[in-house]
Amino acid sequence: MLKLFNTLSGIREEFRPIEEGVVRLYTCGPTVYDYAHIGNFRTFVFQDMLKRYLRRSYRVIHVMNITDVDDRTIQNSRAQGMTLKEYTEKYTEAFLSDCKTLRIEPADVTPRATEHIPEMVALIQRLDEKGYTYRKDGSIYFSIASCPDYGKLSKTDFKGMQSGARVDTDKYDKDNARDFVLWKGKKENEDFWDTEIGPGRPGWHIECSAMSMKYLGETFDIHGGGIDLVFPHHENEIAQSECATGRPFVRYWVHPEFLIVEGEKMSKSLGNFFTLRDLLAQGHAPETIRYLLLSVHYRKQLNFTADGLQQAQSSLQRLADFVLQMKEKSGKEEPDPGFSAEVQKAKQKFAEAMDDDLNTSAALGIVFDFVRATYQKNEQGLLTGGDARIALEFINEFDAVFGVLRTQPELLDEDILKQIEARNEARRRRDFAESDRIRKWLLSQGIQLEDTREGTRWKRTR
Ligand SMILES: [Zn+2]
Repeated sequence: MLKLFNTLSGIREEFRPIEEGVVRLYTCGPTVYDYAHIGNFRTFVFQDMLKRYLRRSYRVIHVMNITDVDDRTIQNSRAQGMTLKEYTEKYTEAFLSDCKTLRIEPADVTPRATEHIPEMVALIQRLDEKGYTYRKDGSIYFSIASCPDYGKLSKTDFKGMQSGARVDTDKYDKDNARDFVLWKGKKENEDFWDTEIGPGRPGWHIECSAMSMKYLGETFDIHGGGIDLVFPHHENEIAQSECATGRPFVRYWVHPEFLIVEGEKMSKSLGNFFTLRDLLAQGHAPETIRYLLLSVHYRKQLNFTADGLQQAQSSLQRLADFVLQMKEKSGKEEPDPGFSAEVQKAKQKFAEAMDDDLNTSAALGIVFDFVRATYQKNEQGLLTGGDARIALEFINEFDAVFGVLRTQPELLDEDILKQIEARNEARRRRDFAESDRIRKWLLSQGIQLEDTREGTRWKRTR
């Protein structure tokens, strides 16, 4: 039985879905104003693993939104002379392609905020009818004083707060908590929609309430997002949804912790800010990055370091070698009953670790203990073809959840030479963007190029 830490109750709870056999899961997707960074991907990779693990026992219906309208997308698109749609489409595509690279499986529904304006307007009207809102200068605000349990997710008491103070920005901290904006009145040089509640655009928080309830119902099982979304985003989602429907919004709130880089908070000014693309261009394999992101329990801060990447790479190499050896050895005969019992035990311990609030680091420890013990048995000449076969089954079961073992074969020498020729061709016509793209792509596949007088040499980095 899976136990999950629920931010709402503040304790670990046994997970039971509302409808037997089905889990309804909503995760806050990206705001597509730029490439997603590695901290964002910690959350997305974790959610993918959670979904894969739940799928062992349930059918999972997963919805992840795309926020394609907010202050930053509007500002950036205007600055670049693009329409909001052109601009956000570019970063949506980039995000979905990055997810594919990291083997994050697509959600069942990926709703865009701009395609759900009528649903948001309807939700604001419902709140309005029940007296939770007020208007000011063309905008509509949610009055937090009208919602008695506002603050229950972030465990903050807002009772003594001055009422009637407002905030228009989508992001702010607890100390600056105010009535938040549901609908932003039309402004000069901003995208807007003409609607029954007036011309304007939605606030960020109402987007997720409207889209999650449309696809998953007024009460659903799990809602996730990075820990930085607890306040104000998720607190506001709860307030809006529960005040509108009069029902509980979500049963379990699951929040992975922050990622830091080499012990420091990631920031552009410190030069330790990485997108997935930056890391691939440095030659790190997507599987290595995914492994490192999953190797630490999700409720602990993850220190993303060069050493960590190195260790992740050698751990994965060890697993890949093991798989290769077991494949070679594998046979159809019946496994030894003693070994069969050991595999069963390893599977059970793996499940126990994962059921313990998704303790991935303990689960990995169990997998590597198993690998070590199986190697030992093999060295003693005690491992049969049938044993190798069931050892592989366990590793495959593990990888169905973790998704870290390389499935494609490595690039063949002749493919590498073709790529090098294409790069030389690009350089001859002075298309340096293309030649650089090829160089970086090869690096992401573990092939490093070196240009010498005699021509381009290459070597494998892993
Ligand atoms: Zn959200």
